[in-house]
Amino acid sequence: MSDQPTVDALATAVYTVPTDAPEADGTLAWDKTTLVLVTVRSGTTTGLGYTYAPAATAHVVRELLTGTVTGLTALDVPGANERMCRAVRNAGLPGVAAQAIAAVDIALWDLKARLLGLPLAALLGAVRDDVPVYGSGGFTTYDAARQDRQLRGWTEDEGIPRVKIKIGESWGSRESRDLERVTRARASVGDTTELYVDANGGYTGGQALRIGAALTDHGVTWYEEPVSSDHLTLLADLRGRLPMDVTAGEYGYTLPYFEHMLAAHAVDCLQADVTRCAGITVWLRAAALAHARGLDISGHCAPHAHAHVAAAVPNLRHLEWFHDHVRIERLLFDGVLDPGGGSVTPGADGAPGLGLTLVEEWAERYRTE
Ligand SMILES: [Mg+2]
Repeated sequence: MSDQPTVDALATAVYTVPTDAPEADGTLAWDKTTLVLVTVRSGTTTGLGYTYAPAATAHVVRELLTGTVTGLTALDVPGANERMCRAVRNAGLPGVAAQAIAAVDIALWDLKARLLGLPLAALLGAVRDDVPVYGSGGFTTYDAARQDRQLRGWTEDEGIPRVKIKIGESWGSRESRDLERVTRARASVGDTTELYVDANGGYTGGQALRIGAALTDHGVTWYEEPVSSDHLTLLADLRGRLPMDVTAGEYGYTLPYFEHMLAAHAVDCLQADVTRCAGITVWLRAAALAHARGLDISGHCAPHAHAHVAAAVPNLRHLEWFHDHVRIERLLFDGVLDPGGGSVTPGADGAPGLGLTLVEEWAERYRTE
């Protein structure tokens, strides 16, 4: 239809933000984080989306996606998503290409909501007003004082009743320090706060079971990637033997990945990252797969990219209020959400789309491309 708004232009920008301290989890260390921003324009309206991914992601957007999406109707986001997924066939969808598609997909949803003058949660159709979050950080590089300060910041200053720390330090070679840090974390947050751990695949199967038994004594209720999320049989075995929730899914780039994980009975709660799994369009489908099996979904990292879509699914557990990404999103965007009391309320202020505005004068110092 000729009177429908079209996607007139795409643009990319890359921002690299140093961490506020050295950071590591069980299997990776880093001192900076890169955000790839995509903006899409229809007439005088602009939508934004982003992913946390290498700068190569912006190159994929320019080379493979811009020509695919430009000229399409701005209202049919799933159609654009499908075309993008087909366009990267030979590049390989999982990984950088799916992250590039995610950034464009999120920008297209933001654009559509802005064209219609609606918060994105209202466009998608909300199930809930409040989206629970959990404080996430607790890096293995932190000393006792820094871990305590961060945990109390979430529980005491912000009233968030759920927190997560990293364990599995140095590929599972620091078991006693892992458990000391969990003991200290429980002391910091008290008995009524939900305490989660994430091993980022750092343990072997038997080790994960042994550690899991010790974690039970500390009231840990969420055991994320105790072993590599590639090892679905091991995850399923741990899930059957341990009382807490076993979780994984953050490396899901395609819908079949989530289906395979669920079919293997590998997780109690499915995690999915909207900035990796080809965007909001596919995240909604992943949530439906979990819902059909009676399981919850939890949004992985990038909290402001997830908040609105999280409000739109019935089986949401929570969003990860990840220290790195919260900090970066506050540094770059106006319109960020307040997690006070343990939840955010996307769209409550009536702002259209994701409700985010990139503040150029804040962001410019971090721009690398
Ligand atoms: Mg994780």
